[in-house]
Amino acid sequence: MPLDVEKIRKDFPILGTTANGKPLVYLDSAATSQKPRQVINAVSKHYRKNNANIHRGVYKLAEEATSQYIKSKEQVAKFIGADSYRSIVYFRSTTEAINAVARAWGDVNVDKGDHILITEMEHHSNIVPWQMLAKRKGAILDYVKLSGSKFLDMEDYKSKLTSKPKMVAFAHVSNVLGTINDAATITKLAHEAGAAVLVDAAQAVPHMPVDVSEIDADFYTFSGHKMLGPTGVGVLYGNEEILEGMAPFHGGGDMIRTVDFQEATWNELPWKFEAGTQNIEGAIGFAAAIKYLKKLGMENVREHEKALTLYALERLEQAGVTIFGPGREDIEKRGGVISFAMKGAHAHDIAQVLDSEGIAIRSGHHCAMPLVTRILNEPAVPRMSFYIYNTRAEIDAVVAAFGKVKEVLRLSA
Ligand code: PLP
Repeated sequence: MPLDVEKIRKDFPILGTTANGKPLVYLDSAATSQKPRQVINAVSKHYRKNNANIHRGVYKLAEEATSQYIKSKEQVAKFIGADSYRSIVYFRSTTEAINAVARAWGDVNVDKGDHILITEMEHHSNIVPWQMLAKRKGAILDYVKLSGSKFLDMEDYKSKLTSKPKMVAFAHVSNVLGTINDAATITKLAHEAGAAVLVDAAQAVPHMPVDVSEIDADFYTFSGHKMLGPTGVGVLYGNEEILEGMAPFHGGGDMIRTVDFQEATWNELPWKFEAGTQNIEGAIGFAAAIKYLKKLGMENVREHEKALTLYALERLEQAGVTIFGPGREDIEKRGGVISFAMKGAHAHDIAQVLDSEGIAIRSGHHCAMPLVTRILNEPAVPRMSFYIYNTRAEIDAVVAAFGKVKEVLRLSA
Protein backbone atom coordinates (compact mmCIF):
# COMPACT_ATOMS: atom_id res chain seq x y z
CA MET A 1 0.00 0.00 0.00
CA PRO A 2 1.49 3.41 -0.89
CA LEU A 3 2.38 5.61 2.08
CA ASP A 4 0.12 8.58 2.70
CA VAL A 5 3.04 11.00 2.80
CA GLU A 6 0.98 14.15 3.34
CA LYS A 7 -0.61 12.55 6.42
CA ILE A 8 2.76 11.30 7.65
CA ARG A 9 4.32 14.74 7.28
CA LYS A 10 1.73 16.21 9.63
CA ASP A 11 3.10 13.96 12.39
CA PHE A 12 6.54 15.60 12.15
CA PRO A 13 6.49 19.06 13.72
CA ILE A 14 9.92 19.98 12.34
CA LEU A 15 8.76 19.50 8.74
CA GLY A 16 6.45 22.47 9.14
CA THR A 17 9.35 24.79 9.97
CA THR A 18 11.59 26.90 7.73
CA ALA A 19 15.35 27.03 7.20
CA ASN A 20 16.90 30.25 5.91
CA GLY A 21 13.40 31.57 5.34
CA LYS A 22 12.40 28.65 3.06
CA PRO A 23 10.28 25.61 3.90
CA LEU A 24 12.61 22.96 5.30
CA VAL A 25 13.50 20.17 2.87
CA TYR A 26 15.14 17.52 5.02
CA LEU A 27 17.24 15.08 3.00
CA ASP A 28 19.67 13.83 5.63
CA SER A 29 17.84 10.96 7.28
CA ALA A 30 20.83 8.65 6.83
CA ALA A 31 22.57 10.84 9.44
CA THR A 32 19.54 10.94 11.71
CA SER A 33 15.81 10.80 11.04
CA GLN A 34 13.25 13.35 12.17
CA LYS A 35 10.85 12.36 14.98
CA PRO A 36 7.07 12.13 14.86
CA ARG A 37 4.93 13.60 17.65
CA GLN A 38 4.10 10.01 18.74
CA VAL A 39 7.75 9.54 19.72
CA ILE A 40 8.13 13.02 21.20
CA ASN A 41 4.95 12.47 23.22
CA ALA A 42 6.06 9.05 24.48
CA VAL A 43 9.31 10.54 25.81
CA SER A 44 7.53 13.49 27.35
CA LYS A 45 4.81 11.27 28.89
CA HIS A 46 7.50 9.11 30.48
CA TYR A 47 8.95 12.15 32.22
CA ARG A 48 5.56 13.54 33.15
CA LYS A 49 4.03 10.31 34.45
CA ASN A 50 6.37 7.33 34.74
CA ASN A 51 9.88 8.52 35.48
CA ALA A 52 11.85 6.19 37.77
CA ASN A 53 14.99 4.12 37.48
CA ILE A 54 14.54 0.56 36.23
CA HIS A 55 15.26 -2.76 37.99
CA ARG A 56 15.79 -0.92 41.26
CA GLY A 57 12.60 -0.07 43.08
CA VAL A 58 9.76 -2.21 44.35
CA TYR A 59 7.39 0.73 44.11
CA LYS A 60 4.77 1.17 41.40
CA LEU A 61 6.56 3.83 39.33
CA ALA A 62 9.79 1.83 39.12
CA GLU A 63 7.86 -1.30 38.18
CA GLU A 64 6.05 0.58 35.43
CA ALA A 65 9.30 2.06 34.04
CA THR A 66 10.95 -1.38 34.13
CA SER A 67 8.03 -2.99 32.37
CA GLN A 68 8.06 -0.30 29.64
CA TYR A 69 11.78 -0.78 29.15
CA ILE A 70 11.41 -4.53 28.74
CA LYS A 71 8.46 -4.04 26.40
CA SER A 72 10.65 -1.83 24.23
CA LYS A 73 13.10 -4.70 23.82
CA GLU A 74 10.29 -7.15 23.13
CA GLN A 75 9.09 -4.89 20.33
CA VAL A 76 12.57 -4.58 18.87
CA ALA A 77 13.00 -8.37 18.98
CA LYS A 78 9.72 -8.91 17.12
CA PHE A 79 10.51 -6.15 14.63
CA ILE A 80 13.70 -7.87 13.46
CA GLY A 81 12.51 -11.47 13.79
CA ALA A 82 14.49 -12.34 16.94
CA ASP A 83 13.09 -15.01 19.27
CA SER A 84 13.46 -13.18 22.54
CA TYR A 85 14.35 -9.86 24.12
CA ARG A 86 17.20 -11.73 25.83
CA SER A 87 19.17 -11.30 22.61
CA ILE A 88 18.56 -7.52 22.46
CA VAL A 89 21.18 -5.38 24.19
CA TYR A 90 20.90 -1.61 24.24
CA PHE A 91 24.00 0.50 23.86
CA ARG A 92 24.31 4.19 23.00
CA SER A 93 24.58 3.62 19.26
CA THR A 94 25.60 1.25 16.50
CA THR A 95 29.12 2.51 17.08
CA GLU A 96 29.13 1.50 20.72
CA ALA A 97 27.56 -1.85 19.91
CA ILE A 98 30.32 -2.68 17.41
CA ASN A 99 32.98 -1.54 19.88
CA ALA A 100 31.40 -3.80 22.48
CA VAL A 101 31.69 -6.82 20.18
CA ALA A 102 35.25 -5.94 19.12
CA ARG A 103 36.20 -5.79 22.80
CA ALA A 104 34.06 -8.36 24.55
CA TRP A 105 34.10 -10.95 21.77
CA GLY A 106 37.24 -9.90 19.88
CA ASP A 107 39.66 -9.77 22.80
CA VAL A 108 38.83 -13.36 23.68
CA ASN A 109 38.50 -14.89 20.22
CA VAL A 110 41.11 -13.11 18.08
CA ASP A 111 44.80 -13.88 18.49
CA LYS A 112 48.10 -12.84 16.96
CA GLY A 113 48.21 -13.59 13.24
CA ASP A 114 44.43 -14.15 12.96
CA HIS A 115 42.54 -12.42 10.16
CA ILE A 116 39.56 -10.07 10.50
CA LEU A 117 37.71 -9.43 7.26
CA ILE A 118 35.69 -6.27 6.58
CA THR A 119 34.89 -4.46 3.30
CA GLU A 120 35.93 -1.33 1.45
CA MET A 121 32.45 0.18 1.86
CA GLU A 122 32.36 0.37 5.66
CA HIS A 123 31.48 3.28 7.90
CA HIS A 124 34.26 4.22 10.34
CA SER A 125 32.29 2.59 13.13
CA ASN A 126 32.79 -0.75 11.40
CA ILE A 127 36.46 -0.09 10.60
CA VAL A 128 38.14 1.58 13.55
CA PRO A 129 37.05 -0.88 16.30
CA TRP A 130 38.53 -3.71 14.17
CA GLN A 131 41.71 -1.73 13.51
CA MET A 132 42.03 -1.22 17.26
CA LEU A 133 41.42 -4.92 17.92
CA ALA A 134 43.95 -5.90 15.24
CA LYS A 135 46.56 -3.59 16.83
CA ARG A 136 45.85 -4.90 20.35
CA LYS A 137 46.21 -8.49 19.23
CA GLY A 138 48.66 -8.39 16.34
CA ALA A 139 45.89 -9.60 14.02
CA ILE A 140 45.56 -8.83 10.30
CA LEU A 141 42.73 -6.65 8.97
CA ASP A 142 41.70 -7.48 5.39
CA TYR A 143 39.20 -5.73 3.12
CA VAL A 144 36.84 -7.21 0.53
CA LYS A 145 37.23 -5.17 -2.65
CA LEU A 146 34.45 -3.49 -4.56
CA SER A 147 33.63 -4.19 -8.16
CA GLY A 148 32.87 -1.12 -10.26
CA SER A 149 32.84 1.00 -7.06
CA LYS A 150 29.30 -0.28 -6.46
CA PHE A 151 29.05 -3.83 -5.20
CA LEU A 152 31.13 -6.19 -3.12
CA ASP A 153 33.34 -8.32 -5.32
CA MET A 154 32.11 -11.77 -4.28
CA GLU A 155 35.04 -13.56 -5.93
CA ASP A 156 37.45 -11.43 -3.93
CA TYR A 157 35.35 -12.19 -0.83
CA LYS A 158 35.50 -15.93 -1.40
CA SER A 159 39.24 -15.82 -2.00
CA LYS A 160 39.78 -13.84 1.22
CA LEU A 161 37.72 -16.34 3.18
CA THR A 162 40.45 -18.90 2.51
CA SER A 163 42.57 -17.09 5.14
CA LYS A 164 39.97 -18.41 7.63
CA PRO A 165 39.11 -15.06 9.25
CA LYS A 166 37.84 -15.14 12.81
CA MET A 167 35.36 -12.36 12.10
CA VAL A 168 33.60 -11.10 8.98
CA ALA A 169 31.97 -7.68 9.52
CA PHE A 170 30.09 -5.78 6.82
CA ALA A 171 27.41 -3.17 6.20
CA HIS A 172 23.98 -4.46 5.27
CA VAL A 173 23.43 -1.19 3.35
CA SER A 174 26.18 1.30 2.47
CA ASN A 175 25.65 4.81 3.83
CA VAL A 176 27.51 6.31 0.84
CA LEU A 177 26.67 4.12 -2.16
CA GLY A 178 23.25 2.93 -1.03
CA THR A 179 24.27 -0.60 -2.04
CA ILE A 180 22.18 -3.31 -0.37
CA ASN A 181 24.41 -6.28 0.34
CA ASP A 182 23.10 -9.83 0.29
CA ALA A 183 23.54 -10.26 4.03
CA ALA A 184 22.27 -13.86 4.18
CA THR A 185 24.65 -15.13 1.47
CA ILE A 186 27.65 -13.26 2.86
CA THR A 187 26.88 -14.64 6.31
CA LYS A 188 26.43 -18.21 5.06
CA LEU A 189 29.78 -18.15 3.26
CA ALA A 190 31.49 -16.68 6.33
CA HIS A 191 30.02 -19.35 8.58
CA GLU A 192 31.11 -22.10 6.19
CA ALA A 193 34.63 -20.68 6.46
CA GLY A 194 34.39 -20.81 10.26
CA ALA A 195 34.07 -17.04 10.88
CA ALA A 196 31.74 -15.22 13.24
CA VAL A 197 29.67 -12.52 11.53
CA LEU A 198 28.70 -8.98 12.50
CA VAL A 199 26.33 -7.01 10.29
CA ASP A 200 26.23 -3.22 10.56
CA ALA A 201 22.57 -2.66 9.75
CA ALA A 202 22.40 1.04 10.67
CA GLN A 203 21.13 1.85 7.15
CA ALA A 204 19.04 -1.30 6.71
CA VAL A 205 16.63 -1.74 9.63
CA PRO A 206 15.12 1.77 9.29
CA HIS A 207 14.35 1.28 5.61
CA MET A 208 13.30 -2.27 4.78
CA PRO A 209 11.93 -5.45 6.30
CA VAL A 210 14.69 -7.47 7.96
CA ASP A 211 14.64 -10.85 9.60
CA VAL A 212 17.68 -11.78 11.66
CA SER A 213 16.63 -15.42 11.73
CA GLU A 214 16.97 -15.53 7.92
CA ILE A 215 20.24 -13.62 7.82
CA ASP A 216 21.60 -15.77 10.65
CA ALA A 217 24.45 -13.41 11.62
CA ASP A 218 25.94 -13.72 15.08
CA PHE A 219 25.70 -9.99 15.71
CA TYR A 220 23.41 -7.46 14.08
CA THR A 221 23.59 -3.77 15.03
CA PHE A 222 21.56 -0.62 14.35
CA SER A 223 20.58 2.76 15.84
CA GLY A 224 17.17 3.95 17.02
CA HIS A 225 17.82 7.57 16.05
CA LYS A 226 17.94 6.68 12.35
CA MET A 227 14.48 5.13 12.55
CA LEU A 228 12.36 7.86 14.17
CA GLY A 229 13.55 7.11 17.71
CA PRO A 230 15.47 9.32 20.15
CA THR A 231 19.26 9.53 20.04
CA GLY A 232 21.22 7.42 22.48
CA VAL A 233 19.80 3.95 21.86
CA GLY A 234 21.77 1.52 19.72
CA VAL A 235 20.84 -2.13 19.38
CA LEU A 236 23.10 -5.10 19.52
CA TYR A 237 21.21 -8.23 18.55
CA GLY A 238 23.34 -11.23 19.38
CA ASN A 239 22.97 -14.95 19.01
CA GLU A 240 21.98 -15.94 22.55
CA GLU A 241 24.44 -18.79 22.83
CA ILE A 242 27.31 -16.50 21.83
CA LEU A 243 26.14 -13.70 24.14
CA GLU A 244 25.91 -16.22 27.00
CA GLY A 245 29.53 -17.20 26.42
CA MET A 246 30.82 -13.63 26.30
CA ALA A 247 32.16 -11.60 29.19
CA PRO A 248 30.55 -8.17 29.73
CA PHE A 249 31.85 -5.07 28.00
CA HIS A 250 31.10 -2.57 30.78
CA GLY A 251 31.14 -3.22 34.53
CA GLY A 252 28.95 -1.54 37.13
CA GLY A 253 25.49 -1.59 38.64
CA ASP A 254 22.76 -3.88 37.30
CA MET A 255 25.00 -6.08 35.14
CA ILE A 256 25.94 -8.24 38.14
CA ARG A 257 24.31 -11.04 40.08
CA THR A 258 26.69 -10.83 43.07
CA VAL A 259 29.67 -8.66 43.97
CA ASP A 260 32.29 -9.38 46.61
CA PHE A 261 35.49 -7.44 47.36
CA GLN A 262 37.51 -9.23 44.68
CA GLU A 263 35.03 -10.98 42.44
CA ALA A 264 31.67 -10.51 40.77
CA THR A 265 29.27 -12.78 38.90
CA TRP A 266 27.14 -11.67 35.98
CA ASN A 267 23.45 -11.03 35.59
CA GLU A 268 21.42 -12.95 33.02
CA LEU A 269 20.93 -11.79 29.40
CA PRO A 270 20.55 -9.12 28.27
CA TRP A 271 21.27 -7.25 31.51
CA LYS A 272 24.81 -8.60 31.75
CA PHE A 273 25.78 -6.11 29.03
CA GLU A 274 23.93 -3.07 30.38
CA ALA A 275 25.87 -1.49 33.23
CA GLY A 276 24.52 1.51 35.10
CA THR A 277 21.44 3.59 34.43
CA GLN A 278 20.28 3.16 30.87
CA ASN A 279 18.65 5.57 28.44
CA ILE A 280 15.19 4.69 29.72
CA GLU A 281 13.23 7.44 27.99
CA GLY A 282 15.17 6.72 24.82
CA ALA A 283 14.08 3.07 24.92
CA ILE A 284 10.48 4.10 25.49
CA GLY A 285 10.60 6.59 22.63
CA PHE A 286 12.20 3.92 20.46
CA ALA A 287 9.26 1.60 21.16
CA ALA A 288 6.90 4.33 19.95
CA ALA A 289 9.03 4.70 16.80
CA ILE A 290 8.80 0.99 16.07
CA LYS A 291 5.06 1.04 16.63
CA TYR A 292 4.83 3.89 14.11
CA LEU A 293 6.93 2.08 11.48
CA LYS A 294 5.04 -1.18 11.99
CA LYS A 295 1.77 0.58 11.38
CA LEU A 296 3.12 1.92 8.07
CA GLY A 297 4.52 -1.50 7.16
CA MET A 298 8.18 -1.91 6.31
CA GLU A 299 7.36 -3.27 2.83
CA ASN A 300 5.54 0.01 2.15
CA VAL A 301 8.43 2.03 3.54
CA ARG A 302 10.82 0.23 1.21
CA GLU A 303 8.53 0.69 -1.80
CA HIS A 304 8.17 4.40 -1.07
CA GLU A 305 11.92 4.89 -0.86
CA LYS A 306 12.52 2.78 -3.94
CA ALA A 307 10.14 4.92 -5.99
CA LEU A 308 11.70 8.14 -4.69
CA THR A 309 15.20 6.86 -5.37
CA LEU A 310 14.30 5.87 -8.92
CA TYR A 311 12.79 9.30 -9.50
CA ALA A 312 15.82 11.06 -7.98
CA LEU A 313 18.29 9.01 -10.01
CA GLU A 314 16.44 9.94 -13.17
CA ARG A 315 16.31 13.65 -12.30
CA LEU A 316 19.97 13.70 -11.31
CA GLU A 317 20.98 11.96 -14.52
CA GLN A 318 19.05 14.60 -16.48
CA ALA A 319 20.83 17.29 -14.48
CA GLY A 320 24.16 15.84 -15.66
CA VAL A 321 25.69 15.12 -12.25
CA THR A 322 27.84 12.06 -11.53
CA ILE A 323 26.01 9.53 -9.38
CA PHE A 324 27.83 7.04 -7.18
CA GLY A 325 26.52 3.58 -6.34
CA PRO A 326 24.16 1.25 -8.22
CA GLY A 327 22.13 2.74 -11.09
CA ARG A 328 18.40 2.59 -11.83
CA GLU A 329 18.76 -0.85 -13.41
CA ASP A 330 19.89 -2.17 -10.00
CA ILE A 331 17.20 -0.51 -7.93
CA GLU A 332 16.49 -3.78 -6.09
CA LYS A 333 20.02 -3.59 -4.72
CA ARG A 334 19.91 0.09 -3.78
CA GLY A 335 18.59 1.96 -0.78
CA GLY A 336 17.50 5.61 -0.57
CA VAL A 337 20.94 7.16 -0.24
CA ILE A 338 22.43 9.05 -3.19
CA SER A 339 25.93 10.48 -3.22
CA PHE A 340 26.88 12.49 -6.27
CA ALA A 341 29.39 14.97 -7.69
CA MET A 342 29.02 18.04 -9.85
CA LYS A 343 31.96 18.92 -12.08
CA GLY A 344 33.83 21.98 -10.85
CA ALA A 345 31.88 22.27 -7.57
CA HIS A 346 33.13 21.26 -4.14
CA ALA A 347 30.68 19.16 -2.14
CA HIS A 348 30.57 21.69 0.71
CA ASP A 349 29.79 24.54 -1.68
CA ILE A 350 26.89 22.57 -3.15
CA ALA A 351 25.55 21.79 0.31
CA GLN A 352 25.90 25.43 1.35
CA VAL A 353 24.01 26.78 -1.64
CA LEU A 354 21.29 24.17 -1.10
CA ASP A 355 21.12 25.20 2.54
CA SER A 356 20.42 28.77 1.48
CA GLU A 357 17.34 27.32 -0.27
CA GLY A 358 16.23 25.52 2.92
CA ILE A 359 17.50 22.13 1.70
CA ALA A 360 19.44 20.01 4.18
CA ILE A 361 21.82 17.52 2.59
CA ARG A 362 25.06 16.25 3.99
CA SER A 363 28.47 16.74 2.46
CA GLY A 364 31.79 15.22 3.45
CA HIS A 365 33.31 11.76 3.66
CA HIS A 366 30.27 10.46 5.54
CA CYS A 367 32.47 8.65 8.05
CA ALA A 368 33.64 6.40 5.23
CA MET A 369 36.97 7.99 4.33
CA PRO A 370 38.59 4.93 2.75
CA LEU A 371 35.60 4.52 0.43
CA VAL A 372 35.18 8.19 -0.47
CA THR A 373 38.82 9.22 -0.78
CA ARG A 374 40.38 6.00 -2.09
CA ILE A 375 37.66 4.27 -4.08
CA LEU A 376 35.54 7.20 -5.28
CA ASN A 377 38.65 9.43 -5.44
CA GLU A 378 36.81 12.44 -4.05
CA PRO A 379 37.80 14.57 -1.05
CA ALA A 380 34.11 14.83 -0.15
CA VAL A 381 30.73 14.11 -1.75
CA PRO A 382 27.28 15.63 -1.29
CA ARG A 383 24.68 13.06 -0.23
CA MET A 384 20.93 13.14 -0.08
CA SER A 385 19.00 10.46 1.75
CA PHE A 386 15.29 9.75 1.92
CA TYR A 387 12.76 8.55 4.41
CA ILE A 388 9.02 8.08 4.83
CA TYR A 389 8.28 11.82 4.80
CA ASN A 390 10.12 12.81 1.63
CA THR A 391 8.40 13.72 -1.63
CA ARG A 392 9.13 14.04 -5.32
CA ALA A 393 8.59 17.80 -4.98
CA GLU A 394 11.55 17.92 -2.60
CA ILE A 395 13.75 16.19 -5.18
CA ASP A 396 12.54 18.70 -7.75
CA ALA A 397 13.57 21.45 -5.33
CA VAL A 398 17.11 20.03 -5.19
CA VAL A 399 17.39 19.88 -8.96
CA ALA A 400 16.02 23.41 -9.26
CA ALA A 401 18.62 24.57 -6.71
CA PHE A 402 21.40 23.14 -8.89
CA GLY A 403 20.76 26.16 -11.13
CA LYS A 404 21.63 28.43 -8.24
CA VAL A 405 24.72 26.33 -7.45
CA LYS A 406 25.95 26.85 -11.01
CA GLU A 407 25.17 30.53 -10.86
CA VAL A 408 26.87 31.13 -7.52
CA LEU A 409 29.92 29.04 -8.43
CA ARG A 410 29.93 30.46 -11.97
CA LEU A 411 29.92 27.03 -13.57
CA SER A 412 29.05 26.77 -17.24
CA ALA A 413 25.50 25.43 -17.67
N1 PLP B 1 27.09 2.33 10.22
C1 PLP B 1 26.53 2.97 9.19
C2 PLP B 1 26.40 2.27 7.87
C3 PLP B 1 26.06 4.27 9.37
O1 PLP B 1 25.50 4.93 8.34
C4 PLP B 1 26.20 4.88 10.64
C5 PLP B 1 25.76 6.28 10.86
O2 PLP B 1 25.69 7.08 9.97
C6 PLP B 1 26.79 4.16 11.66
C7 PLP B 1 27.22 2.88 11.42
C8 PLP B 1 26.98 4.74 13.01
O3 PLP B 1 25.77 4.96 13.63
P1 PLP B 1 25.76 5.72 15.05
O4 PLP B 1 26.35 7.08 14.79
O5 PLP B 1 24.34 5.77 15.43
O6 PLP B 1 26.61 4.94 15.96
